[in-house]
Amino acid sequence: MSETLNPFAIAQAQLDEAAEVLQLDPDMHTFLRQPMREFHFTIPVRMDDGSVRTFNGFRVQYNDARGPGKGGIRFHWEETIDTVRALAAWMTWKTAVVDIPLGGAKGGVIVDPRSLTPTELERLCRGYMRNIVRYVGITQDVPAPDVYTNPQIMAWMMDEYEVLMGHHEPGVITGKPLELGGSQGRGDATARGGIYTLREAAKVLGMDLRGKTGAIQGYGNAGTFAHQLAEDLLGMKIVAVSDSRGGIINRDGLDYEATFAHKQNTGAVANFPGTEAISNEELLELDVDVLFPSALENVITEKNAPDIKAKISAELANGPTTPEADDILYDRGVYVIPDFLCNAGGVTVSYFEMVQNGYQYYWSEEMVHDRLDQKMTKAFYDVHKMAEAKNVNNRIAAYLVAVERVAQAVRLRGWV
Ligand code: GLU
Repeated sequence: MSETLNPFAIAQAQLDEAAEVLQLDPDMHTFLRQPMREFHFTIPVRMDDGSVRTFNGFRVQYNDARGPGKGGIRFHWEETIDTVRALAAWMTWKTAVVDIPLGGAKGGVIVDPRSLTPTELERLCRGYMRNIVRYVGITQDVPAPDVYTNPQIMAWMMDEYEVLMGHHEPGVITGKPLELGGSQGRGDATARGGIYTLREAAKVLGMDLRGKTGAIQGYGNAGTFAHQLAEDLLGMKIVAVSDSRGGIINRDGLDYEATFAHKQNTGAVANFPGTEAISNEELLELDVDVLFPSALENVITEKNAPDIKAKISAELANGPTTPEADDILYDRGVYVIPDFLCNAGGVTVSYFEMVQNGYQYYWSEEMVHDRLDQKMTKAFYDVHKMAEAKNVNNRIAAYLVAVERVAQAVRLRGWV
């Protein structure tokens, strides 16, 4: 039988494996295998030409035993409810592994936002919030940006919420612009958190990352900042990057500023002067020290896992590696920093943003970086030590740490 690429089936299979190692009580296991609640809705949007298009939206609140739901909203033309369920499950394990007092949730809309005008996009965002306004809030569920959503989108959604509720509540959503209660350091937080875990991984592997090579698959928020920070904080050389339209390579290294400017100006990394074209598939198999899967799910499967040459895979994307590929990478000695640990910096600074909104007093960027570093470093070693103690791969180790924390909250509440 060929491997499943259904993200929710994958999330459940990962949990099943962890439950077995943990010898989790079967009733608890059954409860944790499913979302606690989910919303499916239609969003009619008036287009600029006067016609109306109906979009489908979702919000899944996977588990809120440890605190209010937390997780981004994704706008993607291939969005499915099972993808949102998986992402909401991974948010539950993500907030637990970095030990912040939040649960896991995720939202999505089936849409290609690049096909909408700014005014159409604003109406879609307000329509999305109108559908979930009664079910989100600082004590219930707090959305944030994800793939193809950004601070402006968060601002429109926050405004819609506040107008409908009749009071200010900036903590209802995170990843806001600074002017509206966003946090310093939220912009690069996902990449920065991942870079901190990579720094620690290199220490435990006895590897000096200075001058070492990296390739970044996905040149969005996480991938671009990973390029900058891998250079600035670790002294690495990024030799290849890609986006949905293809990739580029230069063995001497790609300068961050120039590559980013080219992407900003042309909308893609392709055709950057002085580079050769490379496909996304080729990029993943490059002979580099560190691979950063930073785009979408299921890019490393049983098909290409035997050909991955990187020593470390730092997963800034959610769900980039299938369970079959995980086994292959583990057997081949590739050190995987699993997604919900590696990319937890975003939600960690979102949590800091909620805290700052709560007391309306704002931290310096330096303070955000310091506290993020502490959280990520602690989480890294919790997982690393678990992997060594139980002789399992890092992803299962991360599950063992996270599931036990969530299960304990569920037990203490008396739910199971
Ligand atoms: N969308 C990001 C993630 O997958 C951030 C979520 C948040 O800040 O709530 O972790």
